Amino acid sequence: MSFAPLFNWLLPPKCELCERHSTPIICTHCEQELNFSVSFRKHLDTKIQLFALGDYQNPLLKKLIQEIKFNGNQRLAHWVSHAIKGLTFNIDISLLIPVPSHINRLQQRPFNHVHAIFRHLLLSYPSTSCIVRTRDTPHLFDQSKPDRIRLLKGAFKVREPASIQNQSIVLLDDIVSTGATILELSRCLLPYRPRSISVISLSH
Ligand SMILES: [Zn+2]
Repeated sequence: MSFAPLFNWLLPPKCELCERHSTPIICTHCEQELNFSVSFRKHLDTKIQLFALGDYQNPLLKKLIQEIKFNGNQRLAHWVSHAIKGLTFNIDISLLIPVPSHINRLQQRPFNHVHAIFRHLLLSYPSTSCIVRTRDTPHLFDQSKPDRIRLLKGAFKVREPASIQNQSIVLLDDIVSTGATILELSRCLLPYRPRSISVISLSH
């Protein structure tokens, strides 16, 4: 005998973003509001293209990212990862590199949210963790772009340069705003002659 109907009657399932009644963890209303698509957003410099799946100004997307990143909501991370898997990527991809976090930051968080968000994409393409973040930085969200660039200088180190040459690299991150982190990462990668560098971000 299943107790699921009784359990659902006592505690009706809710959307984890808006708390409307919903059996899927994200209701159809929120799914439509999120409306993920792989859209070209801007050039971060002359060579690096940013593709973002949504806008951080969308309150639902902001809540989704915060729930995953700071509250460690694995169910939402799994949902996003599946949603991303269903998208069409017209981007040249031969190597995925998740933007690395410093070990101190990872220890403060329930899990590596970038890896969780892009889990299914990472299972679909070759990937590497050939870059490490050797220096922790203060929170960057309230810093100006010049300050971010200064704080990030020398924060990354390439461990396996041979894996980069001639690859169409796609960096993965949850939020790209000024692009300072991506530009510093790219500065480390470019001497090893990748074919191209693009970015896929959950939000911009
Ligand atoms: Zn909802």
